[in-house]
Amino acid sequence: MAQLWTRRQVLTQMGMAAAAVHTLDPHELCCTVAAHAQTASKDLFELKKVGDGVYGAIAATRYKVNCNAAVIMTDDGIIVVDSHSKPSASRIMYQQIHGITKKPVIKVINTHFHWDHWQGNESYAATNPKLEIIASEKTKENLTKPDAGVGGIPYIEKQIAALPGEIDKLKADIQQESDPAKKANLESNLQQAESFLQELKSMKPTLPTRTVATTLTLKENGREIQLHVLGRGHTNGDLYTYLPKEKVIATGDALIDWMPFLNDGYPEDWVQTLGAVDKLDFTHIIPGHGEVLPKSHATFFRSYLADLIAAVKKASSDGATLAEMQTKIGDQLASKYEAGMSKYPVGRYRDRVGQNVEMVYKKVIQKA
Ligand SMILES: [Zn+2]
Ligand SMILES: [Zn+2]
Repeated sequence: MAQLWTRRQVLTQMGMAAAAVHTLDPHELCCTVAAHAQTASKDLFELKKVGDGVYGAIAATRYKVNCNAAVIMTDDGIIVVDSHSKPSASRIMYQQIHGITKKPVIKVINTHFHWDHWQGNESYAATNPKLEIIASEKTKENLTKPDAGVGGIPYIEKQIAALPGEIDKLKADIQQESDPAKKANLESNLQQAESFLQELKSMKPTLPTRTVATTLTLKENGREIQLHVLGRGHTNGDLYTYLPKEKVIATGDALIDWMPFLNDGYPEDWVQTLGAVDKLDFTHIIPGHGEVLPKSHATFFRSYLADLIAAVKKASSDGATLAEMQTKIGDQLASKYEAGMSKYPVGRYRDRVGQNVEMVYKKVIQKA
């Protein structure tokens, strides 16, 4: 049975209620979308079939981002990988699944602890008291750890503390904006921010009930689902869901169709870990964000990380300052990566390359 605790109960248990209020650096927000979020009327997810009974649920752009989900049908019920940033989103996901099958969701897998991948767990738990929620040991640990990064129970309080400021800023921007389309977009963002704040305040953080140390194979009535911890990367607890027969892998944010987010990551380990991913036999990637991808994207994404690290090491040994590196490396790697890393209104090459350089500099050169 999934644990359903109120946020307050958990914080009290952890003795951290007093530590709840933080000011957020906007860079800490993994995936906030600025003024280009689409209106709320558009469908939240598009289910794309990637194998027999296997779907990638590709998330539409939202002011508060939702991750993709992988949806795996079995004879006993449905297995869903990741639950988005809010219960209202996972409820919509559940309704969409229900359009295909009336079987219950029996397992939810959380790929990592970031806010946009697990905050919807509670709505699946509400549909099935026997729901299992599976994550790596490290992810389970991170979900209750203060300052693990941009996710977990303590981060819910940080989001609640930061949102009123964001809402005020959106209101001020609406006042300033004269273009009707941009104004309408900002108004939609404001409405999304306000309802997100309400959802956060009533959130019942629902934690994993089962953990994976290295590998776990689920045999679900003929369908084999392998869960793999392959090393540190996007976080220290990334969990890969691999279907050997269907040749599909769901990767969370360890492999995405945006620029990577490195703040809670381990750049050099990440390159190694993606080498281990590459050894698995798959044809389709359901990434944490963006469209379903071919295996070749894993090579592209990994080579970006490797080139980025090599460029930062070289520039640093040449005596460049961080600011110089950010400009120079951004330009230097653009011909190879800018087009492939700028397909969506979010997570684009130029928006993130400076931040990526800074993170590699801190983590690889300064070992901070
Ligand atoms: Zn994400
Ligand atoms: Zn993430």
